[in-house]
Amino acid sequence: MPKLTYGLIGHPVGHSLSPAMQNAAFDDLKIDAEYKLFDIEPAGLEKFLKDLVKNNIAGVNVTIPHKVKAKDFIKANGVLNEHAERLGAVNTIKVVGGKLMGFNTDGPGFYRSLVEDLKFEPEGKSVFVLGAGGAARAIVMYLGNGPREIFVTDIDDRMVEDLKKHFEKYYDHRRFKAVCKNNFKESLDASDLLVQATPIGMHDGDPSPVDPKSLHPGLRVYDLVYNRPATKLVEEATRMKLHAMTGLGMLLCQGAIAFELWTAKRAPIEVMRKALKEALKSHG
Ligand code: NAP
Repeated sequence: MPKLTYGLIGHPVGHSLSPAMQNAAFDDLKIDAEYKLFDIEPAGLEKFLKDLVKNNIAGVNVTIPHKVKAKDFIKANGVLNEHAERLGAVNTIKVVGGKLMGFNTDGPGFYRSLVEDLKFEPEGKSVFVLGAGGAARAIVMYLGNGPREIFVTDIDDRMVEDLKKHFEKYYDHRRFKAVCKNNFKESLDASDLLVQATPIGMHDGDPSPVDPKSLHPGLRVYDLVYNRPATKLVEEATRMKLHAMTGLGMLLCQGAIAFELWTAKRAPIEVMRKALKEALKSHG
């Protein structure tokens, strides 16, 4: 059998940590496959997807700026998983019998990491999401009606409104609570979990996007930023003896779920974690 090809399509893709993580998993399970980077400009996306089968590509991850267009393509030409359809974005494609199947593993990856790493089950709990961009949307649309309520805030209120409208198409509107400056503190006080879904914390010297005085005992903190061992928010929360973690676990789990979709084998998670950490270190 020829070597299987997998990869990441995006533009740009040079900074990706996925090849290290996926290739380590293929090596560990002795699967004759290779994960490559495909830098595809928007104008070339459709042709690339049409040619996946011809080019012997068995599966791909999809990143910025192609996630929505890939969803449109799969909806018209393949099989779209229900969550990917609700979210409106595909980040993983699998080729099955010449047909393309589209999934989104960001929400499931977050959920798996939340349960396995932070030991937190969101069902029936109150969740506070800071930021209403792409990552927040994937998480909120995956949590759906599970939590008792999901508070969402963003510096741009229109982002929150947009996500609220989208959420309400599929889920109980009473569970989504838009938060502004006036009800920020009381909403966070009522929450069991804080999800930090803004880019604040990625760069040296970034402050915590939440005043540590607003954190309360028992609150769990999941900061999606993954490019450093700890953000200011995670440091402050840990100092207050709260359970807190960065987004490395989500990054790992969304990749592990993609690997499992492609290979139908349990991902060697510790091997992937080690490869991810090493790749992160060498990316500086
Ligand atoms: P995004 O689409 O740019 O969304 C971030 C949102 O947060 C934007 O609407 C932004 O508003 C808003 N924001 C910025 N500062 C804020 C503040 N102080 N208070 C409230 N809202 C604020 O970014 P994204 O793709 O969702 O990514 C968000 C973070 O998650 C990044 O750090 C990314 O690396 C991380 N992430 C991690 C994983 C993982 O696997 N761990 C996966 C995806 C993303 P403006 O646009 O107006 O600034």
